[in-house]
Amino acid sequence: MSDDHTPPSPTDTPDTSTRRRVLGKIGTGLAATFASPALALQGGAVTPSVSTRQPAQSIKRDPLTQYPRPPFPKQTQPWPGLASKMTPVPDHGEKTYQGSGRLTGRKALITGGDSGIGRAVAIAYAREGADVAINYLPAEESDAQEVVALIRAAGRKAVAIPGDLRSEAFCQSLVAQAVRELGGLDIVVSNAARQHQVPSILDLTTELFDWTMKTNLYAMFWIVKAAIPHFQPGACIIVTASEQAYDPSPNLLDYAQTKAAQVAFTKLLSKQLIPRGIRVNAVAPGPIWTPLQPSGGQDPAKLPQFGASTPMGRAGQPAELAAAYVTLASQESSYATGQVYGVNGGNALP
Ligand code: NAD
Ligand code: MG
Repeated sequence: MSDDHTPPSPTDTPDTSTRRRVLGKIGTGLAATFASPALALQGGAVTPSVSTRQPAQSIKRDPLTQYPRPPFPKQTQPWPGLASKMTPVPDHGEKTYQGSGRLTGRKALITGGDSGIGRAVAIAYAREGADVAINYLPAEESDAQEVVALIRAAGRKAVAIPGDLRSEAFCQSLVAQAVRELGGLDIVVSNAARQHQVPSILDLTTELFDWTMKTNLYAMFWIVKAAIPHFQPGACIIVTASEQAYDPSPNLLDYAQTKAAQVAFTKLLSKQLIPRGIRVNAVAPGPIWTPLQPSGGQDPAKLPQFGASTPMGRAGQPAELAAAYVTLASQESSYATGQVYGVNGGNALP
């Protein structure tokens, strides 16, 4: 993947330029802008064709203009970054996702559940009827508390477990605490990651390399290993990989390797675990508007054009990932294991 340039948009007319400016403004105040769930996406002129009781995520829209398009405002944050401090604030589905009981009674642990893709999954899982434990770093407590409130507002149990996944002992205690407080475990979403862009291998220190490996690979291994003994048939694991596994950017040498390894982990582990009735799948997102990017994941000079080089010409929002995670976790996907689900604005993946 490369997000270095903006291809001309097929819809780049004066009319859509105006629309872009409107979208940017709408995106900025997303969380508080809309009162009606059916109108809550920052997708420009939304005219529901049916009753406003229709689930907001099912209203037909043009995906090209549904969310903000580049350019994004220049911005940086200290790692690990907060969703609340991004401009525009990402859409995690807070105002839009409506569940239909697809995960009723499930118990899920989501790493990196405070922000970005993990937050969108936490909201969707809770609204689909699951109790949810989230892990995050202590510096992300304010983002995490927003998620806890959203899970509880959905009428489900929320368990907040801060801590650094680079410690095997912490990963083991994280799983133990999640099992204890949720009363079991059915779904593990291994989603937390470290992405720090470094243009040259000559500047990639052993410390940075190790940091990425520990967060993205060791922690996944430790958590999954600790979780399996608690699983019953019907449980599942979902790994957040990336299109970087297949089409790596030149400045993500360590990160892209971990994403490729996560794909191999998923495909292999699915074969080990299916005799126990446990499914293992991955999601491979493209460029998604999350705190990972302005907090070191992306060259700050290139961030304004984030997502421009995808066929859709825009970045994805975390809310656009939720359906993939719900579908993969749902019993409706009982025949799907060892698969990688791409959500990336149109880049073809193997
Ligand atoms: P995000 O910053 O919202 O989430 C990443 C989370 O990782 C953080 O919230 C943090 O809680 C957690 N984390 C990082 N280091 C940790 C540590 N040492 N201990 C505990 N937690 C730690 O960003 P996101 O983009 O939603 O990332 C979620 C997943 O999506 C990651 O696996 C990332 O690789 C993947 N992904 C993101 C993109 C993108 O463009 N944003 C694209 C492809 C894949
Ligand atoms: Mg975060």
